[in-house]
Amino acid sequence: MRTQPSADRRVWRNWAGTATATPARWSRPRNEAEICAAVKNAAAAGLTVRALGSGHSFTAAAATSGVALDMSGWTGITAADTASGLVTARSGTTLRALNAELSGLGLAMANLGDIDAQTLAGALSTGTHGTGARLGGLATQVEALELVLADGSVVTCSASSRPELFAAARVGLGALGVISAVTLRCVPSFTLLADERPMPVDEVLERFDELAAANDHFEFYWFPYGRQALVKRNNRLTGHDAALGTPVPPALPAWRRFWEFEVMENASFGALCRLGRARPRLIPALNRFSSAALSTRTYTDTSHRVFVTPRRVRFAESEYAVPRESLGHVIAELRRAVPRLPHPVMFPVEVRVAAADDIWLSTAHGRESAYVAIHQYTGLPYQEYFDRFESIVAAVDGRPHWGKLHSLDSGRLRSLYPRFDEFRRVRAEADPDGRFGNAYLTRILGPHDL
Ligand SMILES: Cc1cc2nc3c(=O)[nH]c(=O)nc-3n(C[C@H](O)[C@H](O)[C@H](O)COP(=O)(O)OP(=O)(O)OC[C@H]3O[C@@H](n4cnc5c(N)ncnc54)[C@H](O)[C@@H]3O)c2cc1C
Repeated sequence: MRTQPSADRRVWRNWAGTATATPARWSRPRNEAEICAAVKNAAAAGLTVRALGSGHSFTAAAATSGVALDMSGWTGITAADTASGLVTARSGTTLRALNAELSGLGLAMANLGDIDAQTLAGALSTGTHGTGARLGGLATQVEALELVLADGSVVTCSASSRPELFAAARVGLGALGVISAVTLRCVPSFTLLADERPMPVDEVLERFDELAAANDHFEFYWFPYGRQALVKRNNRLTGHDAALGTPVPPALPAWRRFWEFEVMENASFGALCRLGRARPRLIPALNRFSSAALSTRTYTDTSHRVFVTPRRVRFAESEYAVPRESLGHVIAELRRAVPRLPHPVMFPVEVRVAAADDIWLSTAHGRESAYVAIHQYTGLPYQEYFDRFESIVAAVDGRPHWGKLHSLDSGRLRSLYPRFDEFRRVRAEADPDGRFGNAYLTRILGPHDL
């Protein structure tokens, strides 16, 4: 194992620059035995352990002053059954690499979020989700997990084997052990028909339930000073469509993908953001300009090439899951609040949907959810905006995305999650000494005792 010398005081920093840490030790396991050894060595040295994903959480979820386990040497698919769709992958595999490997096998994940830079275990551990009223977050696609526990032993859990550990560990916050391998239930590769077009935000809200029900993957973006939203509807092309001979638009040619995703949505938007940061008074006008510039785009492509787009402009983000029926209220309150903020907002609001699930700390646990994500361009003040947003979603029992900025603590979170204490009990059993603890977990789960 390539273990960094203890004199290595390399700083860990997340993608957004909102969290840093100086681990006492770095370790980069290349097989499961090395993961177990790293956990045991940490225990012998009296150090805590956190597995690192790609650092794409905005919270300090992965931060540690103990041993940082860099999982980037532990990647790839180890087993695949194309008939059942069951695929086992090592936990440090990025979603990008996973999508490419699955594609080669004629398989795909049924749903994905906006980006693919995350590791599989990192994405699962914070409850990463995409959109789709009939679909859950990524963790609902998990069939089994292999975990290295605090004593260095390896266990497998699934719906039939250690079901309580499974219910907890699918969205486990890195609190129960180091996920070593993940078995996913994948689906045959599919093509999505993407339809993106502007629509007045009032109309989107009026038709929200209908749009969520009528599309496999429905979401919208809304620049909070504008009246227009960008509505994205991604629907699976079926054999039925082909049999009907329904005309479908082609994939975007490479030059257009480059122009629209890299130049317009990243380089040009980044330039507007920099202008807004230099001249904050221009932001509402720039925001309205961006809103007015929204245009229609329809194309087809392999599912992951539609779900995922490059995000090169850095930002800070908070996201809450709210009961689906309260979305209209939340957006109306945000609309009232944003123009009164002391600092203008440069980034759009994103709204997605998910089906209810039964994973203990899933943000969609037990309820049909709408996700409302707010963002601010890096370097611009965001605290008042995020505080105001939190007070709006608090009124409808919003649950924060575990990987995005929020201020809730265990007292409040316990009232939002009916299985919260069971999660804590399973954690105490799996990790009696708090080997996998960090400051973020202490805040959100409470002290490590029962
Ligand atoms: C640009 C951008 C776009 C995003 N888009 C979406 C989106 O569309 N939908 C969404 O829901 N979220 C989204 N997110 C949030 C992101 O998916 C989550 O924060 C995710 O957890 C990041 O994964 P990561 O690999 O970077 O993990 P990290 O942030 O590095 O770690 C997250 C947690 O996982 C734990 N962990 C990592 N590996 C292991 C392991 N092997 N075993 C146990 N625990 C482990 C870490 O200790 C930490 O607690 C986005 C974030 C960014 C920056």
